[in-house]
Amino acid sequence: MADLSKYTKELSKLFFTSKDILLVSHVNPDGDAVGSQLAIYHYLKSKGINAVMMAPNYLQEFLKWMDGADKIEVFIKRREKCKKLIEKADLIVMLDFNQPDRLGEAEKYVMRSKATKVIIDHHLNPHDFADLLISDSSKCSTSELIDSLVTKINGERFRNISYAEALYVGIITDTGNFEHGTYTGETLRMVADMIDTGIDKEKILNLIYNNFSANRMRLEGFALNQRMTVVPELQTAYIYLTKTDMTSYDYVKGDSEGFVNLPLAIKGIIFTALFIEKDGFIKLSFRSKGDFPTNTFASKYFSGGGHLNASGGDYYDTLENTIDYFLKVLKEFYGEYLKQRK
Ligand code: 5GP
Ligand code: MN
Repeated sequence: MADLSKYTKELSKLFFTSKDILLVSHVNPDGDAVGSQLAIYHYLKSKGINAVMMAPNYLQEFLKWMDGADKIEVFIKRREKCKKLIEKADLIVMLDFNQPDRLGEAEKYVMRSKATKVIIDHHLNPHDFADLLISDSSKCSTSELIDSLVTKINGERFRNISYAEALYVGIITDTGNFEHGTYTGETLRMVADMIDTGIDKEKILNLIYNNFSANRMRLEGFALNQRMTVVPELQTAYIYLTKTDMTSYDYVKGDSEGFVNLPLAIKGIIFTALFIEKDGFIKLSFRSKGDFPTNTFASKYFSGGGHLNASGGDYYDTLENTIDYFLKVLKEFYGEYLKQRK
């Protein structure tokens, strides 16, 4: 998406003429979802526009320190209040997702609303469930896209610490602190401006990355030691965690965040998977290096999706059957992948 101006005109008009703006992130909101949500919130606030914010479910601990995070209403915690916010809104801006089911339980209320709906997102193959779809999969994060849009609307880079912090969180979490993802020179120039604005990088990195419980670290050690299988012939490594594993390490939400990336550090491995046992289903996360298309794999076999190198899905069976099925379909898929590369 080279030319943003046709979108920014319309978005700007919506921002400055709507009375009740609701900013919505996706289920299990990550750093990019919350970062882009808070960045718009701070920008609008500086212009005297008081938007409200909602997330379908709880924020992870490592994001709760962010300025304004305490103002994000959680749908599953305060359903009636959130339904009223949705009903009252005349503009709903949805951030960092490309399918309405990423709204979780809030989906039907948001979709039913008469508000003008906007999507701002960077995932591939967006579904069109809004009046204005601003989607750019060349951006490393929705946060990066927000900064481009806001800069255009504002006429110059908007310099504000809370705004810059929010976007910085979105960018570092979606790129694994600049390890992967489609970040570019332009992303780094934005980050340079954030640093010039005065964000405290070290404070943010410590709050995001060096904030684990001792049990979380022990769970990581256990996962690598006892629950990782390497399948060299498929250039794959996977990790699984049972409910019992998680209970014995006092698992709290977010503790397994990042585990899926770890086996990518093994020489020769290009594809990794993480299986988390849930009630009645298995949640899967996929990561890859190079051109191995995890999103195609996720959508073809695990009713999921995502980006080329990072995606996820679900499977409604036992852990054992899910892993068996995974290995079976991966053999097929990996074979096809090799053929196409020739
Ligand atoms: P994670 O592995 O961190 O949960 O998710 C990585 C990426 O995959 C996210 O950016 C998200 O968009 C996508 N993703 C994860 N789970 C699902 C899913 O069940 N369905 C879809 N469509 N995308 C998913
Ligand atoms: Mn994102």
